[in-house]
Amino acid sequence: MTKNAGEKKAISGQAASGFFEDLHEPLDALSVAPEANYCLYCYEAPCVQACPTSIDIPTFIHQIRTGNVTGAAHTILSENIMGGTCARACPTEVLCEQACVHNATGHKAVEIGLLQRYATDHLMAENGPHPFSRASGSGRHIAVIGAGPAGLSFAHRAAMLGHKVSIYEAKSKPGGLNEYGLAAYKMVADFAAREVDFLLGIGGIEIFYNKGLGASLTVEDLQKNHDAVFIGIGLGAANGLGLEGEDMGGILDAIDFIADIRQTDDLSRIKLGRDVIIIGGGNTAIDAAVQAKKLGAGNVTLAYRRGTDQMGATEFEVELARKCGVMVRLWSKPLAIQGAGAVSGITFEQTMLKGGKLVGTGETYDIPCDMLLKAIGQNLDTASLSGLDMDGGKLKISGDYQTSRTGVFAGGDCVHSGEDLTVQSVEDGKQAAVAVDVWLKNNKGA
Ligand code: SF4
Repeated sequence: MTKNAGEKKAISGQAASGFFEDLHEPLDALSVAPEANYCLYCYEAPCVQACPTSIDIPTFIHQIRTGNVTGAAHTILSENIMGGTCARACPTEVLCEQACVHNATGHKAVEIGLLQRYATDHLMAENGPHPFSRASGSGRHIAVIGAGPAGLSFAHRAAMLGHKVSIYEAKSKPGGLNEYGLAAYKMVADFAAREVDFLLGIGGIEIFYNKGLGASLTVEDLQKNHDAVFIGIGLGAANGLGLEGEDMGGILDAIDFIADIRQTDDLSRIKLGRDVIIIGGGNTAIDAAVQAKKLGAGNVTLAYRRGTDQMGATEFEVELARKCGVMVRLWSKPLAIQGAGAVSGITFEQTMLKGGKLVGTGETYDIPCDMLLKAIGQNLDTASLSGLDMDGGKLKISGDYQTSRTGVFAGGDCVHSGEDLTVQSVEDGKQAAVAVDVWLKNNKGA
């Protein structure tokens, strides 16, 4: 595969943690005060209602303003124990900041994400005792499957409620998408790992690595040895394009490309084409496209079959990609993969909406490439979840996060509960832990 030799030399031997710059410059002691003062401390603040974890935003901003930065972090983390990650990776421009009342008067929103990061980074840098304590031991033991945002959030809240938690994680590291799936310029350095260490500081949580669901670890087995089970496995395999030649060289899943960048200690080993096409319209597509460009690919094209309004990625993300030099081609559907052994180009068909339905116009065009990254979503691996009812390709749950199997609960991307965002997974984990606590009290006398 062709490489951009100049860029490759520049990054030789360098890990992603030292190559990619932070997407947003953090606030410092000087810049934080005017930003905190800018907040109007609204009553029934719309920003709180727009936050999936219901963080008391005006209160934590007021705490920053009065110099109680540790207290501000406590306010944030009491609702969202991964407030540090969410401050970096949340699409705040369509959540809390979009709801900020300043927008209504044509002014910029309060930089809620940056203020949140300021507070949570401050607390983690203090390296003091864990800010939350555990209730007295309930004598109950809960199994959690998956050490991603949902599983870790569940575990932390369950530990706070006095339960013992054992997490079974398929990979060799914790963090899930925070560790493997977010662009390196959003999660610079080792923040994901440090946040997990911080979270585990509550105590009462153990993690078993390289133990995913399968023949040697089943939901049924875990139920025999635990009082309840929480499934937070996220999504698995990436969706395919359904085109002939998809197994050619140079064709990868964007999630694997991103994970390789996050995990390597030498970026020059990352497979990178000179002409890269990314197919998809979500944040994964943007993360892959921007990183491909920053790593030195010559031409990077992001193709999406609909318009910007239908994209999963926010306007900010699409603009970021454009600013980095990514060519964004909308209303373009991949029709055929060209190449012999290795991909050499993609034929696209223009699309349009006709009577509300997406149709091809019959007009086609080709883009040459030596690398194709697929970012058209992932699906839930249901093989190890037999016996549990499904709903639209995900686990079916009731209002208390319980699956169709009594005592087995689920949350995060493997269920339908909201947008597939880290912040939603954290909320699911938190709420599910409270629901399990109630269920244990009602059914097992915890
Ligand atoms: S809506 Fe904006 S101004 Fe009002 S409390 Fe929230 S951040 Fe502050």
